[in-house]
Amino acid sequence: MSSRILLLEDDPAIAGTVAFALQREGFVVEHVLLAGAARASVAAAPPALAILDVGLPDGNGLDLCREWRQSGADTLRALPVLMLTARAEELDRVVGLELGADDYLTKPFSPRELVARVRALLRRAAFSPPAAQAPVAGLFELDADGRRIRFAGQWLALTRLEFGLLRALLRAPGRIRSREALLDEVWGADGEATDRTVDTHVKTLRAKLRAVRPELEPIATHRGMGYALDPSVL
Ligand code: CA
Repeated sequence: MSSRILLLEDDPAIAGTVAFALQREGFVVEHVLLAGAARASVAAAPPALAILDVGLPDGNGLDLCREWRQSGADTLRALPVLMLTARAEELDRVVGLELGADDYLTKPFSPRELVARVRALLRRAAFSPPAAQAPVAGLFELDADGRRIRFAGQWLALTRLEFGLLRALLRAPGRIRSREALLDEVWGADGEATDRTVDTHVKTLRAKLRAVRPELEPIATHRGMGYALDPSVL
């Protein structure tokens, strides 16, 4: 797996610190100053991970991330993204609107913390199967046509929404899905559904999984961010 990291940051001091910290750990860093350059670089050859600053002279790291998440290319949708935010209000946008970033750091941050986050994201990504791969090896088995899921050898009695929710999480084990993203994918245009609706369905889903294997907790809660299927239990 490539260890090339794309760094989009227009502040030379921050970029220098980040690049140095990553290079010292053996990563290859490609540094660009503009959103347009990052877009072109990723289109030419997707890196292992992208670190995106929010405020840029020619745009916005959040928009770029959203663009990739909505793209038709699996590699772009699955590209691990770490956002660098300058202010608390930007952080609110990352967390609140949840544009598909996998993690974020608020400036100022320590290079050591950044390297730790990068490593964690790359580990997680290594567990994720390529998107669009339907069957999930191991504990889960997805029968997409039959709209049913088997867990540890047992077919689960799921409601339509529980099925959709679990399928959404199974698509990318380890990737944190925000409540908003899950609402979009599973509930679609149902305007009545809220974040609490997602939480309620996660709760009933967990109870059904627990009934099969009480010692496992396959759905992890990431505070303030959303839910992910824990790849270590798969
Ligand atoms: Ca900036």
